[in-house]
Amino acid sequence: MALLVRFSDHSLRMQIALVFGTLVIALAVLLSLGFGELLKHRIQRDAGDSLQAVADNAGKLLATGLMQRSLEAEVLASAAMVWSAGLDSPEAQHMLARSQAMQPSNLWIGVADAQGVVRNATGGLLLGHSVAQRPWFQRGLQEVHVGDVHPAQLLESLLPPTASGEPHRFVDFAAPIRIGPTTVGVLGIHGSWEWSREVLEGLTPSTSAEDAVELFIFDRQGQMILAPRRHGTMLQAAGQRLPEGIHINNNRDGGSLQTAVVPWLDGNRYLTAATQLQPRNAASDLGWRIVARQPVELAFAEADRTVRMALAIGLTAALMASALAWMAARRLSDALYALADAASAVEAGHPGSNIPAMDSNREVRQLSQALGRMTHRLLAAREAMEEKVRLRTLELEAANRALDLQARTDALTGLLNRRGFETQMAFALALARRSTRPLSLIAVDVDHFKRVNDTYGHEAGDEVLRRLARTLETRLRGSDVIARLGGEEFVALLPDTDLEGARAIAQTLVTAMAQQQDPVVGTITVSAGVASMRGADDTGDAILRRGDIALYEAKGQGRNRVCVED
Ligand code: GH3
Ligand code: MG
Ligand code: MG
Repeated sequence: MALLVRFSDHSLRMQIALVFGTLVIALAVLLSLGFGELLKHRIQRDAGDSLQAVADNAGKLLATGLMQRSLEAEVLASAAMVWSAGLDSPEAQHMLARSQAMQPSNLWIGVADAQGVVRNATGGLLLGHSVAQRPWFQRGLQEVHVGDVHPAQLLESLLPPTASGEPHRFVDFAAPIRIGPTTVGVLGIHGSWEWSREVLEGLTPSTSAEDAVELFIFDRQGQMILAPRRHGTMLQAAGQRLPEGIHINNNRDGGSLQTAVVPWLDGNRYLTAATQLQPRNAASDLGWRIVARQPVELAFAEADRTVRMALAIGLTAALMASALAWMAARRLSDALYALADAASAVEAGHPGSNIPAMDSNREVRQLSQALGRMTHRLLAAREAMEEKVRLRTLELEAANRALDLQARTDALTGLLNRRGFETQMAFALALARRSTRPLSLIAVDVDHFKRVNDTYGHEAGDEVLRRLARTLETRLRGSDVIARLGGEEFVALLPDTDLEGARAIAQTLVTAMAQQQDPVVGTITVSAGVASMRGADDTGDAILRRGDIALYEAKGQGRNRVCVED
């Protein structure tokens, strides 16, 4: 399932390792297969060449052997001095015996007279027998002759059995014996066919078990005439002929050697090389083909090993390269993860969090530096913004306080207005109820104020109102609450003061105003009404109303005086 995940969902290190590993493995497989195939081809060609060399060498040795024996027959036949003493002379007998002693594989050396009767022979074998019908005799009358391999006929019962127990087979050599112009007889040699087996086995003995190189001889008709002992009978029984489709090297086409992989009748496929026997003299041109074969799996074993080894080395290198890529990618992604973690910490606003300076490579270094600068700027901007907001908040609070004050203050006199007075009144009432102390109130109104305005102007009226305010402020205590309720009506709230005390204070106020002499408007008097809280159920409005009533009472009584509620 993990492989079905989208590529972009993998981590960077996984992506790099995947891409790099796939590339390197593909490259390694391609390269090692390519080189392996090249090597395999070379090794196969070399194997073919050496197989061809074995076949060629076997051919040369056989050709030399055939030539030597035919020469031997010729040399023996040409000993005219000996033969002139008679074909059956002791000298002739001696000569034949010596010759056989030098070449024991010549199983029989004998002489027949011109009529084909054996007159002399090694071991005295066949003496007096007629060989007139034998090909070697008939051909030997004319010229030096080399006969193809054939089974023994007359001699089979006379010779000791072969080492292998197989019937004797011979290669015949013959030459005419001439005294002067007359042919007096034929010298014949029956060479053991085992000789050629020894020659071939001499070429393939030591390595044959390992490489299993085997040599075969086929005659001119393509009949198998020699095979290694372990296969010979089987292949001969199966009728193995010269395998088709193989190139016969006859050493005439400039050495363009060709070996082929062909099936043999034993059911296996063999790398096969063939060569034509090159006769060293005219007589020994038997037309044999010497064939060397080697099981394909053995011939190409090294090639296969080489390909496998190249593949193994390539894959090992690929794995190591992938591991290196993985580690390099981890180094990179570790740095990126660290940056991401640091950025998250900054985003979460952890105190003291910062982008660390990374140095794992140039890109990461640049990225970390850029992120660091950006974070620094953002943090600085945020701080500046917070400072600005803090200042604005302070300003706003001051403005609000000012506005609040404005809302509660009378602009002309700087005293509380009605709204400010109501708040203070509620507070003073609650305090008085709780402490059961008295609370009194003086309502003040300027007498005939309309006239002042009418006579001296509105500005002079305002000045009178301001002067009254100052007088109230200077005559009353700091704990008293003074307010201008509207027009030229003022009120003073006196905590801890009973009705009588308040009346006395009101009187001093009225007196003080009456004694003041304004340079413009002259004397201005005021009237005052006094009321006090009557128990816990009394309200601010009720006290104020009773104060007003007392004030109007004072107005009614002639002004410039104080009246107290009933
Ligand atoms: P009384 O003795 O009965 O109180 O007579 P009065 O003229 O003082 O009373 P009235 O209520 O008839 O007149 C009040 C005048 O006060 C009317 C108005 O023109 C004047 N006034 C009210 N507010 C202001 C103010 O803020 N400044 C000035 N200059 N005059 C004001
Ligand atoms: Mg008035
Ligand atoms: Mg009035």
